[in-house]
Amino acid sequence: SAARNVAVFGATGSIGASALDVIARHPDRLRASVLAAGSNVPALLALCVRHKPAHAAIADASRYAELRDGLRDAGLSTQAHAGPEALDALAAGDVCDTVVAAIVGAAGLASTLAAARAGKRLLLANKESLVLAGELLTGIARDSGAQIVPIDSEHNAIFQCLPDAACADALRRIVLTASGGPFRGWDRERLRTVTPAQAVAHPRWSMGPKISVDSATLMNKGLEVIEAHHLFGMAADRIEVLVHPQSLVHSLVEFIDGSTLAQLGLPDMRTALAVGLAWPQRIESGVERLDLLTQGRLDFEAPDLDAFPCLALAYRALRAGGTAPAILNAANEIAVSAFLQGQLGFLAIPALVEDVLAALPSQAADTLDTLLEADAQARRLASKAAATTTIGA
Ligand code: NDP
Ligand code: MG
Repeated sequence: SAARNVAVFGATGSIGASALDVIARHPDRLRASVLAAGSNVPALLALCVRHKPAHAAIADASRYAELRDGLRDAGLSTQAHAGPEALDALAAGDVCDTVVAAIVGAAGLASTLAAARAGKRLLLANKESLVLAGELLTGIARDSGAQIVPIDSEHNAIFQCLPDAACADALRRIVLTASGGPFRGWDRERLRTVTPAQAVAHPRWSMGPKISVDSATLMNKGLEVIEAHHLFGMAADRIEVLVHPQSLVHSLVEFIDGSTLAQLGLPDMRTALAVGLAWPQRIESGVERLDLLTQGRLDFEAPDLDAFPCLALAYRALRAGGTAPAILNAANEIAVSAFLQGQLGFLAIPALVEDVLAALPSQAADTLDTLLEADAQARRLASKAAATTTIGA
């Protein structure tokens, strides 16, 4: 059969690199037909030289000429596109049947929705779009027949552990594992002085800066609880978080009969991407085999909610429902970016998110407009707070 045409959104990022690595191992069955990024034209051009996609797109419309000329100068026939609408059109168009949604943050929502509406196979790494508009996105996918394969390693693990017909009634709970991040075991006093460089140095996973900070605050796990709720239809009290420092057990599902299934593997996102690219078949990913004998042990412990309040804030937002998760996500994106720029202390991240959640009451989230308005309002409030705050700065 013909090769699958894959569009990689967020191609220049960490997930993008892993996706392209797996795709390039299977030229007979997979082709990178579209590469899209935010503003980094040189990095996008380098990927185009290597993968020769039919289309390349940059979200920053002011970089169109730079991309077009760069492609021409490299002697490539790749067609240049620019602007967010161009990305959405490519996600929905005939140029691809599979979309890797790996743009970071709420900026990835529109192209993710476009791919879902068009009924594509959606390899969903962009968890923020599920946090922001989970019901909408899963509803659209149900209506269009788009298959969502979660790429987030925990949700990909659960996806693998749930056989097709598994009825939700037979599931007792799901357990998301968390590495605990670089500051596992630290108390608030020690966390006060954390620098951006320390926060992005994750002990187990190599990832982009935003999700690395989220892992350090445990907000990443909080976003994943909300993500799991939407993907697997589980209520908040049936989603548990366990810290597992070795990051070998990627998550577990517990059935009513006493069975617990887990998926294990080395911490390398290429496994999840290979699952998504080939499902229901299996292909080589380049990831080494897990040798439990040399790994030695698997440890589990409860998360420390006092030192890492972001996890509890996310549960609170999920229980509040409506626009609360969108507000949580937007405030967090602003706080993380201010932290990375040295404008906020580490402990100010949860403080700021909590303040914005408290200031903006949750409303029913029945339309995309309501959600986007809540997102914009939370961003305005959070930016103002970040500019004036004295917490931990
Ligand atoms: P990176 O920071 O490494 O990459 C982000 C990508 O998004 C880049 O390609 C960037 O392009 C692009 N981008 C940024 N802003 C825009 C925009 N406005 N429009 C279009 N593209 C944009 O992030 P990661 O790869 O680490 O993460 C990507 C997503 O995957 C996140 O949602 C994250 O939570 C999720 N994820 C990541 C994991 C990981 O291991 N890295 C694990 C699980 C989930 P440019 O280079 O031009 O700025
Ligand atoms: Mg994860």
